[in-house]
Amino acid sequence: MTMPRFKVRYSYLPQQFGQTDDLWEQLKKFVPSGDFTLGEPLAKFEGRFAELIGAKHAIGVGSGTDALKLGLKAVGVGHGDEVITAANTFIATVGAINELGATPVFVDVNDTFCMDVSKVEAAITKRTKAIMPVQLTGEITDMAALMKLADGYKLPVIEDACQGILAAGPGPDGRLKNGGTWGVAGGFSLHPLKNLNVWGDGGVVVTSDDQVAKTLRLLRNHGMRNRDEIEILGFNSRLDTLQAVVGNWLIGTTHDITAKRIANGAYYDAAFSQMPGIRVPARRSNVRRVFHLYMVFADDRDGLFQHCLDNGIEAKIHYPIPLYLQDALKHLRHKEGDFPVTDRHAKSILSFPCDQHLTRAEQDLVIDTVGSFYAKKR
Ligand SMILES: *Cc1c(COP(=O)(O)O)cnc(C)c1O
Repeated sequence: MTMPRFKVRYSYLPQQFGQTDDLWEQLKKFVPSGDFTLGEPLAKFEGRFAELIGAKHAIGVGSGTDALKLGLKAVGVGHGDEVITAANTFIATVGAINELGATPVFVDVNDTFCMDVSKVEAAITKRTKAIMPVQLTGEITDMAALMKLADGYKLPVIEDACQGILAAGPGPDGRLKNGGTWGVAGGFSLHPLKNLNVWGDGGVVVTSDDQVAKTLRLLRNHGMRNRDEIEILGFNSRLDTLQAVVGNWLIGTTHDITAKRIANGAYYDAAFSQMPGIRVPARRSNVRRVFHLYMVFADDRDGLFQHCLDNGIEAKIHYPIPLYLQDALKHLRHKEGDFPVTDRHAKSILSFPCDQHLTRAEQDLVIDTVGSFYAKKR
């Protein structure tokens, strides 16, 4: 084995999937069944996922991107439509919108890392067909306010909850309501880097609307009503049943994974909130943020980033170049400064490892390394 380059690594997949003898036993039993597409373990996984999130239906699809795309398609988004979304997100949000021939309309974010709901109304036009908030970093958009606005305009909301499994905000009854259950549908990713992950690409779209669920099931399987009849035009985007076996093996631990990440986040918060040079974003007390990413604002971010890498801490930036300034989105004709908060974030945010396999010693090393950077500067 080669020496690890980092003392505190970002990816924990070797730990997570180091002990899988029981899973291999299950896979050995599954493979000879030949039940590879829309098989029995997939139906079981979908039932468990729906229950976990608190939605009536969960539909396994090929990726998180497809979960978003199918959710948008199910509410009729197509060519020439506009979909309002957050300016700081992963490209996949925009990719899903674009695949349907629709145009993303960005709304700036705030320091929760999610869209600033007070800026949404100004982005609504005659062509707006849907709103796609992004539960970035495992935070949650102010969904109560967004739903009120969207309902007023009769606009469907499809959540990008790919980073936000079990992230939650206060519902109408004051109790926590999970990301993905606020709008018509919510998309989740099972990509290896997400909180609940399988051995490749996968996604889930949830809904509590029976009709939308029926449409989503058609859309993921070529629109086929049955072997011989095609009801609508759809896609080939099924969650592999093999990956559902992996998902079933893991899904029972989602609450533990979440609790560990939240505890790690609190541990970092306590240290970083006292540290000159670092600003911890304001933490709303009535939400559950699940720390898919642990992200803070840093003075001289680029200097700190390099200092971390030089000292064996695998920090990351999510994301260094705002989407609206990317070459691929030139046709949207944005110019630097259009989304000032997103710009500020791109220059000041830094993410540290926060996963469920991280040890307190590793966290302490991260904290000490960051502390030493600012101590040296003074
Ligand atoms: C990961 C991610 C996606 C897409 O998920 P894939 O499974 O990789 O297709 C979409 N949106 C956000 C914000 C993500 O982080």
